[in-house]
Amino acid sequence: MSDQQLVIALTKGRILDEVLPLLEHAGVIPAEDINKSRKLIFDSNLPNVRLMVIRGSDVPTYVELGSADIGIAGKDMIMEYGSRGFYEPLDLKIASCRLMTAAPVGAKLDAPRLKVASKFVNVAKQYFSEQGRQVDIIKLNGALELAPLMGLADCIVDIVDTGNTLRANGLEAREVIAEVSTRVIVNRAAMKIKHALVQNLLMRLERAVA
Ligand code: AMP
Repeated sequence: MSDQQLVIALTKGRILDEVLPLLEHAGVIPAEDINKSRKLIFDSNLPNVRLMVIRGSDVPTYVELGSADIGIAGKDMIMEYGSRGFYEPLDLKIASCRLMTAAPVGAKLDAPRLKVASKFVNVAKQYFSEQGRQVDIIKLNGALELAPLMGLADCIVDIVDTGNTLRANGLEAREVIAEVSTRVIVNRAAMKIKHALVQNLLMRLERAVA
């Protein structure tokens, strides 16, 4: 019966490498090596738990619409998705970083209308509007650090961890928009209908975090 099944949507890439050991601590182990397979959905050691592996930006969509019961994604992706259509009960406290503005070292950002490049367009829009600043947002999908260097934008909104990527490209971090870490999100209906299963997994994940 599908009520007895849990589908967990995992974020592929760097978050996955940190999440798999936590899941294992919580008693959930993929039936095969996710990193060695081209499959996108995996059975686990538990007969009622399956794991999907997708882009972080797609995790909130699958969870809100109920094709996955539980999702694991960065707070940056959750903020950018911008919906309250799911619960966010647990901070896994991994893949920590910051969403920040960054600009060329020493550059004055005093243009009346700033050009801001980001893949986090919703986060950037909201941040600058809260600051009362007029901006034009330019959507890019990667290599944001190039945008100020090439004159495409005055500044960027991006993920900063060590700051090495910024430094290597003549940029410096300016303002912190949000502290980011990996969160567990839960579909609203699944939280009710599969309450025992979901709570049990959350409890074990919480213990694994501790
Ligand atoms: P760093 O040079 O250490 O500041 O890392 C910056 C780049 O690594 C960013 O542009 C991101 O693309 C990526 N990155 C670092 N940490 C994370 C994270 N926790 N989640 C997603 N991307 C990250």
